[in-house]
Amino acid sequence: MRFDVVTIFPGMFGPVFQQGVIARAIERGLVELHAHDLRAHTRDRHRQVDDMPFGGGPGMVMKPEPVIEAVEAIRVTNHGPVILMEPWGERLDQKVAGQLAMEPGLIIVCGRYEGIDDRVRTALQAREISIGDYVLTGGEIPAMVVIDSVARLLPGVVGDPRSLAQDSFADAEELTGWPQFTRPAEYRGMAVPEVLLSGDHARIRRWRRQQAAQRRDLSEMRHPKEAKK
Ligand code: SAM
Repeated sequence: MRFDVVTIFPGMFGPVFQQGVIARAIERGLVELHAHDLRAHTRDRHRQVDDMPFGGGPGMVMKPEPVIEAVEAIRVTNHGPVILMEPWGERLDQKVAGQLAMEPGLIIVCGRYEGIDDRVRTALQAREISIGDYVLTGGEIPAMVVIDSVARLLPGVVGDPRSLAQDSFADAEELTGWPQFTRPAEYRGMAVPEVLLSGDHARIRRWRRQQAAQRRDLSEMRHPKEAKK
């Protein structure tokens, strides 16, 4: 799957994706990641990507032409949908990540300043996505969150596909992951639950399901479904 990102800070992406699971997926050719410098699509001497807001007010707004022209150039090779990172957008969750993972690629536009000229949305028929109800300084970290959550769902990216099936929010019941423990069996007086050492796999499965259901209920209490929509 191919990810193309439009950003004024293309250098931010290398360090994050040169390590770990996604780095290996890139090496193995399962994922392609291209970060494009938005300033390459400006035409003025100062390579300006922002301007003052019509109607007044503080801050600057990202100009439409460089963004639209950058995406048009990328569309020649990436036939996936355009995603605009927006704090007010559709909330990224495991289901949305799963939908995006079915696409041939994604073209992700990162905003900065007060945001992007709204005509970009209309012109590119973009899907707006938020990573949560808070405001960051730019769309680069949100774009990384989208790329990471989508790429790990692609076949072959995560070593053992059973890891994906047992992830939080992966199944229809939206069970969460269960508590995990490894050696030592006791640390500073804290013992691993006896059932996990019992070797009784049916009991272990039951215990994990119960724990996962408890965590799901806690998660739902913290983030009621209505509020998520
Ligand atoms: N004034 C804008 C607003 O209130 O919606 C916030 C602009 S923010 C400082 C700059 C850029 O960061 C946004 O255009 C967007 O691309 C990105 N961004 C910030 N928070 C985000 C979030 N929670 N999810 C997705 N993108 C976000």
